[in-house]
Amino acid sequence: MAVRYDLHGEVAVLTLDNPPVNGLGLATRRELSAGLERALAHPAVVAIVVTGAGKVFSGGADIKEFGTDRAIAEPNLHSLIRQVELAGKPVVAAMHGTCMGGGLELSLACHYRVAAPATKVALPEVKLGLLPGAGGTQRLPRVLDVETALNMIVSGEPVASELLASVPGQKLFDQIVEGELLAGAVAFAAAKGHEHAGGAPLPRVRDLKARHANPDAFFQFARNTVKAMARHFPAPAKCVDAVEAAVKRDIDAGLAYERELFMALMFTPESQALRHAFFAERAASKIPDVPEDTQLRRIAKVGVVGAGTMGGGISMNFLNAGLPVTILETTAEALERGVATIRRNYEAQVRKGKLKEDKYQQRMALLTTTLSYADLADCDLVIEAVYEDLGVKQQVFGALDEVVKPGAILASNTSTLDLNRIAGFTKRPADVVGMHFFSPANVMKLLEVVRGEKTAKDVLATVMQLAKTIRKTAVVSGVCDGFIGNRMIEQYSRQAGFLLEEGCTPQQVDKAVEAFGFAMGPFRMGDLAGNDIGWAIRKRRYVEQPQMRYSQTADLLCEMGRYGQKTGAGWYDYAPGKRDAIPSPVVEEMVAQHRAGLGITARTISDDEIVHRLVYALVNEGAKILEDGIASKASDIDMVYLTGYGFPLWRGGPMCYADSQGLFNVVQTMKAFARNPLDDAGFWEPAPLLERLAAEGRRFTA
Ligand code: NAD
Repeated sequence: MAVRYDLHGEVAVLTLDNPPVNGLGLATRRELSAGLERALAHPAVVAIVVTGAGKVFSGGADIKEFGTDRAIAEPNLHSLIRQVELAGKPVVAAMHGTCMGGGLELSLACHYRVAAPATKVALPEVKLGLLPGAGGTQRLPRVLDVETALNMIVSGEPVASELLASVPGQKLFDQIVEGELLAGAVAFAAAKGHEHAGGAPLPRVRDLKARHANPDAFFQFARNTVKAMARHFPAPAKCVDAVEAAVKRDIDAGLAYERELFMALMFTPESQALRHAFFAERAASKIPDVPEDTQLRRIAKVGVVGAGTMGGGISMNFLNAGLPVTILETTAEALERGVATIRRNYEAQVRKGKLKEDKYQQRMALLTTTLSYADLADCDLVIEAVYEDLGVKQQVFGALDEVVKPGAILASNTSTLDLNRIAGFTKRPADVVGMHFFSPANVMKLLEVVRGEKTAKDVLATVMQLAKTIRKTAVVSGVCDGFIGNRMIEQYSRQAGFLLEEGCTPQQVDKAVEAFGFAMGPFRMGDLAGNDIGWAIRKRRYVEQPQMRYSQTADLLCEMGRYGQKTGAGWYDYAPGKRDAIPSPVVEEMVAQHRAGLGITARTISDDEIVHRLVYALVNEGAKILEDGIASKASDIDMVYLTGYGFPLWRGGPMCYADSQGLFNVVQTMKAFARNPLDDAGFWEPAPLLERLAAEGRRFTA
C-alpha cells in the first residue's frame, strides 16, 4: 500500500507511504489518483488532506523510475496534478520534513497548503541538469515573489517553510501549523470544506498572476548572473527562461514551454552526465557480492598511526564527525608537529567563520596522542599513515596485531604498496583493508577502499558506511599498482610526456586540458603533488618493466631539482610564497634540447589531439581496470575521477565521456594515434573490453 486512505470525520486523509522519501513512483501515483476519486465520490467527505508518512511529505519523483516507461505511465505526474487541480472538493497539502521536486509541484496543484515549521522546500531538478518539469517553474512564481521563486529554481537549494512564509504577499502556505500537523490540517480542511460547500470556487495557483515590476531588466540581470555562474551547465539559464514565461505568458502556454525546455535539457550531455554522477555515487556504495544487510562492526574509537601530512588530515575527518581519535607517533616532537598542524587548520576555519570556536574546542577535546601501542588496544579501527616503506609498514602492522583488540579493523593508507602483503604482516588478514585517502585528506571527497584478497565482507561494508559518516565518496578498488585512480593517471602522465617530446609546452597542454574542464592540467598537477613522487615510481618501473616507454623530460626536470611548488620550481617557475604557475624558459629550453637530441622536429599539436590523447589514455586503462575486476563497474571509475582528480562534472567522468563520444569513435581515434611514429603504438592497443564493446555498439555505463 503506497497511499493510505483514512477518514477523519468529514475529511479524507491520503497519506503517501512509500519509504524512504515517499517518492511519486507509478504505484504511488495510481493509488493517490484512486484515493482522490474515492474521496470525491464519498458524499460525507467535504475536503481532502494529502500528507506524507514518516519524516517527509515527499522527496519528489521516484529516482528508480528515471528514464523508464514507468515515469511517464498514466497517471503521470502531470495528469495527477491536473486531477488534483480539477477536484471539486478542497484538497489541502499538509507538508512536513521535506517537500521537494515533484512533491512540491503536487502540493502547488492543491487548493490549499499548510506546513509544519522547519519543512524544507526545494525544487532541486537543476542539480541534475534539468528544470522542474511538472509545473514548478510556472506555479512557484505565482505563489512567491518572482525573485525568490527564481532563486529556488536556479539554485535547487532547500529553503525553510518559516522563511518562505515570511515573504510578503506569499500564497505558498495558507498556514504554518504549530503543534500536531495532521490535526491542524484536518481542522483547516474541514473549515474550507464547509466554506466551499455552497459552490464557492476553489482557489487554484494557475489562476494567480506572477508579477514583476520591471521584468525585462530583472530577467536580463538574472540571465547574466546565471551565465557567469553556471558556465558549463545549460539548465540554470533555461530556468530563467521558464520563469520569465511564467510572468509573460498565460499558464497553459507557460506549462507547454516548460515541458519543451525540460525535454530539451533531458537530452543534453550535461544533464546526462549529472544524472550519471548522481546514480554513480549511490551505486559506488553497493558492492556486488556484499549483501546490503551485512552486519556492520561498531566503530566508536579510531586510532591513527603517523601524524604527518596524511595522518593529520585523516584524523580531522573523524574528529569532525564526533569520533574520538588517538594518534600514535615515534617521537613527542612528531606528535606535537602533527597536532599543531591540525590546530592550524581548524584555526584557519574559525578565522574564516567556517567553524565556531566551541565546535573547534569540542573537536580538539576528542583528540589524544600517544607513543605507546597499548593505547590503541581498544580502538575499533586503526588507520596506518606512516612512511611509504614496506619495512616500516611491516613493523607497524606487526605491532598493531599484537595489541589491538580482536575484531578491530586495521587499515592502511598506502598509495603504492601491495595491500595483500601488508595484510600478511598480521595474523588477521581478513580484518585488514586499504583506506586510500587523497591529500589534503580533510578536504578531498574521494576515498578508495582497497579490498585485499582476504578482506572480510563485513569489514568492507563497515568501511563503506563509515565513509558516509565522514562525508567521503568511497569507491572499492581491488589490489593493483596504483589502485584505480593512480594506475590510470600514470598512463595519462606518460602521454603528457610524449606530447612535450613532439612539440607541446607544458602550458599548452595544461591550457588545453583545463579548457576541456579539468581543474588542473597534468603539469600544474605534477608541480602541486611533487614531481619526485612520479620519479620514484618511474625508477621502480625502469627495473620492473623495462619495456615500458616514458618520456625522459620528467626525469630531467627532477634531476634539475625542480620538484614543483615545494622547491619553488617545477614545470613552471613560482614567485616566493605564491602558487601562480609562471611559464619557465628553463623548462622550455630543457624540453627543446631533449627533443633535438631525439632528432624530433616540433610540430603544432591541436588542443583536440592533446585532450583526446590524455583522456583516452585514462579510458583505455579504465577499460583494463574493469576487465581485471579492479573496479566492479565503470561508474566507480567515473566517481574516482570526478571526486579525486578534478575531471569535469559536466562530462560525467572518463568512462561516461567515452560513452558520449561513442566507443566505436574512441577506438578509431586511438588507432589513428597508434599510427603516429613518435607515439607508442602499443600504448594505443585498445583494451579487449573496449574493443568488444565498441564492436557490439555498447557502452561502458548503463
Ligand atoms: P609523512 O612523511 O608526511 O608522514 C609520515 C609520518 O609517519 C611521519 O610523521 C613519521 O614520523 C610517521 N612515522 C614514520 N614511521 C612511523 C612509525 N613506525 N610509527 C609511527 N609513526 C611513524 O607522509 P604522508 O604523506 O602523510 O604519507 C603517509 C602514507 O600515506 C604513505 O603510505 C603514503 O603513501 C600515503 N599517502 C600519501 C598521500 C600524499 O599525498 N602525501 C596521499 C595518499 C596516501
